[in-house]
Amino acid sequence: MGIVISGTKLASIRKERLKEAIIEAKMKYDRAPKLAVILVGNDVGSLSYVKGKEKAALEVGIDITTYHYNDDVSEKEIEDKIISLNYDNKVDGILVQLPLPNHIKQDKIIDLISPLKDVDGFHPYNVASLYLKHEGILPCTPKGVIALLDSKNIQIEGKRAVVVGRSNIVGMPLAKMLLDRNATVTICHSKTKNLEQITSEADILIACLGKPKFIKEYMVKEGATVIDVGINRDKETNKLCGDVDFINVEPKTSYITKVPGGVGPMTICCLLENTYIAYLNQFKRS
Ligand code: NAP
Repeated sequence: MGIVISGTKLASIRKERLKEAIIEAKMKYDRAPKLAVILVGNDVGSLSYVKGKEKAALEVGIDITTYHYNDDVSEKEIEDKIISLNYDNKVDGILVQLPLPNHIKQDKIIDLISPLKDVDGFHPYNVASLYLKHEGILPCTPKGVIALLDSKNIQIEGKRAVVVGRSNIVGMPLAKMLLDRNATVTICHSKTKNLEQITSEADILIACLGKPKFIKEYMVKEGATVIDVGINRDKETNKLCGDVDFINVEPKTSYITKVPGGVGPMTICCLLENTYIAYLNQFKRS
């Protein structure tokens, strides 16, 4: 039977630690860390993600302001806001809630955020920093996955890790982080042949493809660690579910995460930690 690694518990412990660190830092620097969020439109998912981030930020003592625009806002208006936030030395982190409407070029907007305030770790500078092993801001979800593995002292070095999904925000950076921890990493995608043969060889299997309950028990090696990044709606029950068929896969694993309560809370936790790091760095520079 697999041990469930609870992201909810780990995030709660780390947020408590962060809250204490922020109380101390506020006395030293005379202000709290500040996160600015740009939200465009009224997509239900985006609204709920932003609400979750606002609640979590306030819990740990991070000031958070959401700039909420109608979905017909011009690209120029968003650009001007980002430029002004970049110059505002009381703002430590800037986050643009994705996706943006089609008339706004996502890459152009992300590229405009100061890399020092890019707390999502999506700016090309931070992406390059990860690949070159330079200091930079790490993307939240992959960082959260590594923290989950570390929380149970799961050995990464020398292990076969398989990442199913190669997006720029999850699969690719996670594969690089696992490689940097000396795993032997295989990245799979929609054109991968014999996927189940590859996943069956994984000591650490990461599912980040966005397909409900896609990873079945016959695709998993006995005793593997399985981390489920997916967030999907189960068509039958309308409940949230991951990319892993948890009920059937769990008995074969040694460690596994659940959806909800696994990677999701760690993503938010890492966002808060990144904001705190950006805040400390701002004072180090001045
Ligand atoms: P994405 O940009 O849609 O990327 C999905 C990746 O999965 C692509 O690389 C795609 O391959 C691959 N893929 C799709 N179908 C496949 C299949 N049948 N076999 C193998 N690979 C397949 O998604 P994402 O943004 O990385 O997100 C992935 C999932 O994680 C989603 O459910 C998302 O909601 C969730 N997510 C969760 C968190 C969290 O905090 N827990 C954060 C971010 C995302 P190609 O490249 O060939 O198209």
